[in-house]
Amino acid sequence: MSDTTDCLFCKIIRREIPATIIHEDERVLAFADINPQAPVHVLVVPKRHIASLNDLAAGDDGLVGELVRRAAAIAAARGIAAGGYRTVFNCNRDAGQTVFHVHLHLLGGRRMTWPPG
Ligand code: AMP
Ligand code: ZN
Repeated sequence: MSDTTDCLFCKIIRREIPATIIHEDERVLAFADINPQAPVHVLVVPKRHIASLNDLAAGDDGLVGELVRRAAAIAAARGIAAGGYRTVFNCNRDAGQTVFHVHLHLLGGRRMTWPPG
């Protein structure tokens, strides 16, 4: 089986498992995190399977920009842009990455602490 067959987020992209979809376009999907850590917790993912930030290529620069700009647009739509929000890419073990399909966390609607745990 290929990575994309097994990958949880690829399954969400193919609608093989349910999710609360917030945005979809040709290259990007955004959906609600199943275990939200803040009043707004959205995951913004590329539709193409990329395991982690370590697997990005130069040709992906535009795609990464789309993920970030989509997170900002969702923050604006949710009314948290002015107050502020956090965006996070976890990469590999020490950051706590659990799903190996690149995803940008958008977290907001409460005051964040720093440094993160
Ligand atoms: P990370 O720890 O950065 O790999 O984040 C993975 C995120 O995926 C976690 O915040 C999980 O709560 C979230 N997650 C896991 N399974 C699902 C699912 N079926 N639908 C939506 N979010 C999920
Ligand atoms: Zn995937």
